[in-house]
Amino acid sequence: MLKRIRRWLGLERNPAEVPAAQWDRVERGLPFLDFLTPPERIRLRALALEFLASKEFHGARGLRLDDDILLSIALQACLLVLDIGLEAYAGWVGIVVYPGDFVIPRREFDEAGVVHEYEDEVLGEAWEGGPVLVAWFNEGAHPPGVNVVIHEFAHKLDMENGGVDGLPRLRAGMSRSAWAAAFSEAFDAFRAEVDRGAQTAIDPYAAEDPGEFFAVVTETFFESPHHLRARFPAIYEQLRRFYGLDPAAAARSPPEDRT
Ligand SMILES: [Zn+2]
Repeated sequence: MLKRIRRWLGLERNPAEVPAAQWDRVERGLPFLDFLTPPERIRLRALALEFLASKEFHGARGLRLDDDILLSIALQACLLVLDIGLEAYAGWVGIVVYPGDFVIPRREFDEAGVVHEYEDEVLGEAWEGGPVLVAWFNEGAHPPGVNVVIHEFAHKLDMENGGVDGLPRLRAGMSRSAWAAAFSEAFDAFRAEVDRGAQTAIDPYAAEDPGEFFAVVTETFFESPHHLRARFPAIYEQLRRFYGLDPAAAARSPPEDRT
């Protein structure tokens, strides 16, 4: 299937080579893209095709990767780098797509040097310098409140400057200390909420560590921007500068005002 998209690319690097009806169909499954202006959406489509041409997809466990799956993953991955640029995803090529959640065998040594082997059930994983693994769910089967693709590609951006620590390579003009202050304050507050057993609109998995917090609030930034802006305005502001996008502001305007 990738070959077909490559053939489109070979003919002409033009998003129009993917039929408009197909873009529309795929994008209907991604309603959080609606905040984009028409020119931004055209740019996102072009970036998605460039992304598909530069990466190698593999379907795991017999999953047949059709063009809609490839376009959907590419659009979501590229939303994160629409303003940052595709070079943020340089240095690795593989994307492995699983039919639903999957198991990763883990092996850990404890302090006594005893090896513990177990199986970790996951929805995705991003390897530093290596592939991204994501679970794919058919329409209606997706676990609620989670965006696997946005989550794993946020980890990729975090790793770009080494480690999954919640501190990606910041954009020109951004302050590392302002980022650290906003994130550490919000992370501590959120973890306290989760520890108290409070119901949180943000996935409690964010309380795991600062790296997971960054990936999860990135999902919230795109999926529920108004909530993130109201709950953690400083985080929203940092992510707005980092991604160069303002989903809450744009979503507030009537569609005719968006251009
Ligand atoms: Zn994660």
